[in-house]
Amino acid sequence: MRRYNRPIMELLQPDAPGIDRAARALAGGLLVAIPTETVYGLGANAFDAVAVARVFEVKRRPGFDPLIVHIADISGLALVASFPNALAERLAEAFWPGPLTLILPRTPRVPALVTSGLDTVAVRMPAHPVARAIIRAAGVPVAAPSANPFGYLSPTRAEHVVRMLGDAIDFVVDGGATDIGVESTVLDVTGERPLILRPGGLPRAAIEAVVGPVDLVDRVSETPTSPGQLASHYAPRASLHLVAEGALPDASIGEGEGLVFFSEASRAAYRARRGSCGPRVTERILSPGGDLREAAAALFVVLHELDEAGVAGIWAERVPAEGLGLAVNDRLWKASTKQ
Ligand code: AMP
Ligand code: MG
Repeated sequence: MRRYNRPIMELLQPDAPGIDRAARALAGGLLVAIPTETVYGLGANAFDAVAVARVFEVKRRPGFDPLIVHIADISGLALVASFPNALAERLAEAFWPGPLTLILPRTPRVPALVTSGLDTVAVRMPAHPVARAIIRAAGVPVAAPSANPFGYLSPTRAEHVVRMLGDAIDFVVDGGATDIGVESTVLDVTGERPLILRPGGLPRAAIEAVVGPVDLVDRVSETPTSPGQLASHYAPRASLHLVAEGALPDASIGEGEGLVFFSEASRAAYRARRGSCGPRVTERILSPGGDLREAAAALFVVLHELDEAGVAGIWAERVPAEGLGLAVNDRLWKASTKQ
């Protein structure tokens, strides 16, 4: 009998023995959280419907939300999907391994649970050497959503996973802080023109440089085709108020609240306007120098910290809407309280 409820989650190092144990556990139907360059994924053997069912259970993820299948090498693609056109192939060539997820026609081998019954499957080849080594050694494609409870902040460190899911999963491979810090860009290439379903770690401009214009789905769409489009997602426990860049209010920030600035410059401007907020306001800066890559990598870390600090509310400003700033603003918007 398989052990579905190990009494204790085990932390593994990203070395040869750790990779070997993680791979064997995955192949054997256990759940292993693995580091990728975007966020930590909660991995299960994609061909093992029971293991995949447990992913939904552990995340409390609604059954309609399909998972991303991760492969180590291009030779692993044929088992799960095919390229519908030359454009899709060009994108894979240009950006895999990397933070791009492609929606592709699936093979019959992929369990319906993985795709929520769709005839397409989301596939990505992660760039993280530990993730690829584990998937390669497991010898199976790995279905892996972000390793967090559904709707909550994504994990960018092993300790985030341990805190959120540690009592419910089998292993966590500690690969340190993730490099990119926001999820992959999800691109549907099955239609006439490529469509970004979720902005993410690969900027739209990088995609357009290879294949020309791509569309970006309307994120307030009433009927999401991709649950990453759900209006409320990636949210902290505290209510998050999102304002325009440079527009953090002077007056409404109260005791025990948290403030998220894009850069040191925006904090300085705010301070010049308002003076100090007092010791009971917790301030965080996404990137002192105003670098969007750094801001993306810091985003979930900062929100986790504020939640851990037990702040009553969070005030955050948007970042410049270019490059990775699009993904940062998207996650901030989804984490925010809408009136
Ligand atoms: P996560 O599992 O948190 O990394 O998010 C995966 C994202 O990919 C979600 O927004 C899913 O809805 C989306 N996705 C996965 N498979 C499909 C598919 N076949 N069609 C459209 N979106 C998908
Ligand atoms: Mg997720």
